[in-house]
Amino acid sequence: MPEPAQRTKLVSREGLTLAKVLRFLSLPFRPKLLETYMAVSRFIEVPVDQLKADGIQGVLIDADGTLGPHHVREYSSEVVAHVDKLASSGLKVAIYTNATEDRFHQFKNISIVKNVPPKPDRRGFEMAMKNFLGLDDPDVVCMIGDNFLTDGGARSAGMRFIHIRPVKGDEPFIHALTRELAFRCARFYFPHSFPTNPTPP
Ligand SMILES: [Mg+2]
Repeated sequence: MPEPAQRTKLVSREGLTLAKVLRFLSLPFRPKLLETYMAVSRFIEVPVDQLKADGIQGVLIDADGTLGPHHVREYSSEVVAHVDKLASSGLKVAIYTNATEDRFHQFKNISIVKNVPPKPDRRGFEMAMKNFLGLDDPDVVCMIGDNFLTDGGARSAGMRFIHIRPVKGDEPFIHALTRELAFRCARFYFPHSFPTNPTPP
């Protein structure tokens, strides 16, 4: 059980940090940060072969809303298999979540990013790339996530971003609201980046 001060710190990583507020306010004016390399309905639709063909060497994957519902502790076998498929294709793979619980035991031999600033801080993405993927060039890295506000911070670090339709779950209202507003901003600037008839989750 974490000490109270530590617990506050854990909660604040997922809450409204200054970096999130600043990014949220700047999004409407900086469309470059909302550019999407690819958008799919579900994580298991991320095309491994295309990533390889496009020169991607490493992927950072969000957990909540991307691999499963918010704070889920058991992931579906197809999600686990798809993470394995990314890794066995030769890509460097790490899970990068702002949540800190240890609940990724199903993902064997996959690094879990720890001790880095929370998303969307650019330094967090850079440290995740260097220390957990062993790569130096953000051009060959992509972030896979459901939230332009947090995961989309990868754009500030020069990485590509793959947007997943959020997996519905029990999450704070403010989290869902800011995520939806950021998504609408991205769709406003890049309407053709998103599937018009997404697969139901
Ligand atoms: Mg998420």
